[in-house]
Amino acid sequence: MDGESGVAAMASASPGGGVPVHLTGVVHLYRQREMDIVALRGVDLDVDAGEMVALLGPSGMGKSTVMRLMAGLIRASAGVVRVGDHDLGRLSSAGRRALRASEISYIVQGTDPNLLPFATAIQNVWFAQQGARGRGRTPHYEPEELLDILGLREIRDARVSELPRGLQQQVALAAGVAPSPRLILADEPTSGLSQEASTGVLALLQQITREFG
Ligand code: ADP
Ligand code: MG
Repeated sequence: MDGESGVAAMASASPGGGVPVHLTGVVHLYRQREMDIVALRGVDLDVDAGEMVALLGPSGMGKSTVMRLMAGLIRASAGVVRVGDHDLGRLSSAGRRALRASEISYIVQGTDPNLLPFATAIQNVWFAQQGARGRGRTPHYEPEELLDILGLREIRDARVSELPRGLQQQVALAAGVAPSPRLILADEPTSGLSQEASTGVLALLQQITREFG
């Protein structure tokens, strides 16, 4: 199936809500000049649409690799990665890019790469929606409405760089959900945060799961 049209078909068939994700027998090698590094050796994982799942484990276990595979940033060396109707191993890199732009939000580790630091919270949410708009998708909520729903009204006009890290991470999640994706991947969203700040971030993730699937 052609990647771009497949994505469009899926988006119009059932707007909003989550998609199931299935990993079957996934192996991933990072090719190095000297020798290959085996990051994953046979991972099976099933996530229902609208389900929230945490991958826990020590550093180097392969958590980020699993997320990069689900985001279609890299292709599995072996095994199957399915996101909704899409077998990511069969999509071209353009198809995977289109899927990422339209259906998947990937919040990478650390807040810096996810946000524009000198813009306000609401400006960041607005920018995050522009890519989706450019592809003919209408986000389900206006930035102001979304921040209200997520309980972030008070920091709407605060500059990201002036917020504490826990709230920066919450803004990153708001920006992640802003284009109305169907899968949100957050890599170590609580790393380096205090217990209290971590609780706030996890509560927001739970709320996003509840409200938006
Ligand atoms: P985690 O997120 O659980 O810390 P990673 O997925 O980052 O684990 O890493 C899994 C394994 O793959 C580790 O051995 C790591 O060194 C290796 N690895 C991760 N990214 C790369 C890369 N870009 N190139 C080479 N090896 C990598
Ligand atoms: Mg990692």
